[in-house]
Amino acid sequence: MTPDERHAALETIATGIRGCQRCRLAGSRTNAVPGDGHPETEVVFVGEGPGQNEDLQGRPFVGAAGGLLDELLGVIGWSRREVFITNVVKCRPPGNRDPEPDEIAACAPWLRQQLEVLDPALVVTLGRFSMQTFLPGSRIGQAHGTMRPVDPATGARDAVSYAMYHPAAAFRQGGLKETMKLDMLGVPDALTRAREQRRVHAPPATVEMVSVAASAAVGFDDDDAIAAGLPTAADELAELVAQGTDDTEESMQDRDQMGMFG
Ligand code: URA
Repeated sequence: MTPDERHAALETIATGIRGCQRCRLAGSRTNAVPGDGHPETEVVFVGEGPGQNEDLQGRPFVGAAGGLLDELLGVIGWSRREVFITNVVKCRPPGNRDPEPDEIAACAPWLRQQLEVLDPALVVTLGRFSMQTFLPGSRIGQAHGTMRPVDPATGARDAVSYAMYHPAAAFRQGGLKETMKLDMLGVPDALTRAREQRRVHAPPATVEMVSVAASAAVGFDDDDAIAAGLPTAADELAELVAQGTDDTEESMQDRDQMGMFG
C-alpha cells in the first residue's frame, strides 16, 4: 500500500467511525474519536476510550492523560505525530465509565480495520481494556513492560504487543508514573525486537511470490522476459537475495522516513 493509499484508507475508516451508530455510545457522544497520528508509523498506541476533552475535540488523548502520554513519549524522544494513537472504543462512555463488553464488541471492527491498514510492528496497549484486546487473560501488574505476539485476528497481521499502564492510573496512584517511565524506556527496544520478528516471518519466498504475482498481473511471463532480453522473475529474486534485501526491508525503510526509530 502506498502512503497515499494508506492515508486515504484511514480517512475512509475515520469517516465511518464518525457516522457510526452501532452501539448506545453514539447517542451520548459529541464527537466520535477515530484516532490520529502518522499513517506510515510502525507503532500504534491503543487506549481505552475517549474522555470529556477527547469527546469535545474529536481527538485522542488531549486531556490530562494525554498530557502525561506526551510527557512519557518525550522520555524516549518521540512525539505523538510520529506514532498512531487510537482507542478500543471510539466514543466516550458517559461519565467516563468503563466501556461495556457489547460496546467493545460493536467497536472492535473499527480498530481491526485501522490495524489492517496501519500494519504496525508494535502495538502498545495502554491500560487493561486495551491489554485484554491484545493479551486476553493477562493481568496488568504482571504484564506491563512485557512483549507478546499479537493474534493476527486483531487486524495487526505481524506485530508484537507491549503492555503499559493507562496514563490516567498515575493520577490515582502517584508511584505509577515512575513505573510508566521505565516501561516507556522499553518501547524502542520492543520495536527493535518487533522488527526482527517481522524479518524472520518474511522469508525470501515472499519476494518470489510478489515478483511472480506482479508478472502474472501484467501477463508478462519468463518466456516474454527472455524474448525481450530482460531478467526473469527468478533472476530478479536471485539478485535481491544477493543484495540481502527484500520488499519487506524496503518498505520498512520507507516507513522509517522520520529516522526516529533507529
Ligand atoms: N483515555 C483514553 O483511554 N483514551 C483517550 O483518548 C483519552 C483518555
